[in-house]
Amino acid sequence: MITAKLLDVARCPRCVATAGKDREKGRLEPVEGGFVCHTCGLSYGAFSSSGKDEPVVSEGKKLPRRGYIDLLPPAEVGQQTRYLEDEFEHDLDHEHISLPLLGAKVRNDLLRKMLQPSKKDVALEVGCGDGRFCYWNRKKFGAVIGVDAAPLFANEALDEIGLIQGDGRQLPFAPESFDKVFSLDLMEHLPLDGIEPFFTELGRVLKPDGRIFVFSNTREMGRLWPVIKLQKRVAGFFTRRGIFDFHRDELRKSDHLKAVKTWKDLEYFVNKAGFTIEKKIFWNGVFQGLVDNIIIKTGEYGVRRVVRFQLDRQRKTEKAHQEAASKDIRTRMANGTTGLTSDWADGGGLDRLRAEVENNKVTHQAAKVAAEAEELHEENAAIDLAVRKNLKSSFARRKSGPVVLFLRILTFLMKLDIWLFGKWRTGPFFIILKKKPR
Ligand SMILES: [Zn+2]
Repeated sequence: MITAKLLDVARCPRCVATAGKDREKGRLEPVEGGFVCHTCGLSYGAFSSSGKDEPVVSEGKKLPRRGYIDLLPPAEVGQQTRYLEDEFEHDLDHEHISLPLLGAKVRNDLLRKMLQPSKKDVALEVGCGDGRFCYWNRKKFGAVIGVDAAPLFANEALDEIGLIQGDGRQLPFAPESFDKVFSLDLMEHLPLDGIEPFFTELGRVLKPDGRIFVFSNTREMGRLWPVIKLQKRVAGFFTRRGIFDFHRDELRKSDHLKAVKTWKDLEYFVNKAGFTIEKKIFWNGVFQGLVDNIIIKTGEYGVRRVVRFQLDRQRKTEKAHQEAASKDIRTRMANGTTGLTSDWADGGGLDRLRAEVENNKVTHQAAKVAAEAEELHEENAAIDLAVRKNLKSSFARRKSGPVVLFLRILTFLMKLDIWLFGKWRTGPFFIILKKKPR
C-alpha cells in the first residue's frame, strides 16, 4: 500500500547515499505512473500488484493506494540475492498470507516478545518477502513498512502494508525515520562485504532510542549438535530411500552464504556499526529439527502417497478411455461400418481418421514416457506445492480444524527449544540491538 506515511519516510536511494542527516534530500513526489525525486529528478515506478504488471496511476487518485514503489538503487550495489531471479519460478505460493504456524509462528512470537511493538512505533521490516510479518503485526505498530529486493508481495500486504522494492544495503529512507526495525532470515543471504553496510544502514534509518530485532544465524554448532546430527542421519536414511524429499528445503537454503561465521564475528559487526546487543535468545533446533525433518516430512510422504494413488487411478482411466476410442475407430474401419460415403473417403477423410488413430497412439506413448521420465522430486514438489496452496486457502476460510490443531501442537513443540535451550549458544539467534550512546 502506498500511503502518506510511506511517502513521509521514503527517499530516492541515490540521493539518500549522500544525504547525511538531511531528512529532505531525495523526497519523492507523485507523478503519472510513479514518483520522481525532487532533488535529482530520477523517476521511480509504482505498481499495484506483484511482478510489475499493473502500474499505479496517480492522476485523480488519492492516497492510500494498493501497491508498492520500486526504489531499487539505479546502479548495482553489490551481489544480488539469487531470490531476484529464481523465486518467481520456484516459489509460486507467495500470493496469500496464511496463519503464523510452525517456524514462522516461533519467529513471530519472539519478534513480539523481544521487540515489544507499540502503537506509537513507526516500524520497518528489511527483507520482508511476501510481507507476512508486517501483515501479522500491522495492528501492533502505529505504522509498518516492508522493503524487499524482490517484489513478491502477497495480496494482503499490497492492500494493507506500506511496501517498497529496495536494497537492504542502501535503504531508500530518510535518516532516523523508524522506532523499530526488524529483519528475519535476511542476513545469512548477504555476502561478507554486505554485512557492514547492512548494519550501518539499519543504524542510519533508526531513531536514536530505537530498537532493532534480527533473526539470522552463524555457522556455530551448539552443545546439542549431536542430537541434531542424529536427526539429520535419520532424515538422510529416509531421503535415500525416496521417502523424505528435501529438494524444496535445499532450494530455499541454496543461497545461504552465512558470511558471519561465529557469534564473535556478529559482535564485531554490530559493535562496528555502533550497536550493543541488548537481548539475545538462541534457537537450538532440537524440537524444531524433529518437527521439520521428521514429522512434517512423514506427513508430506503420506499426503504424496494418497495424491499419487489418485493420480495413478486417473491416468489408468484416461488410458483405458483412449484405448477404447482407438479400438472403436479401428474396428469400425475394419468392418467397413463407419457409415461413411466414398465422397468422404475421396475428400481425404480416411487419411484424417488414420492420422487421428496414429495421433492417439503417439500422444498416449508420449504421455507415458513423459510421466516416467519426470524426476521424482519434481512431482513431489508439485504435489507438496498443491497441498500447501490448498491448506493455505482452507486456512484463509477457517482458522481451526484438525489440521490447524495438529500444526499448533507442532508449533508448541518447536517453542520448547526456546524455553528449554534459549540461553545455550548456537548458530541461529534472535537479538535486540540498540544504539551505543555517543
Ligand atoms: Zn534523487
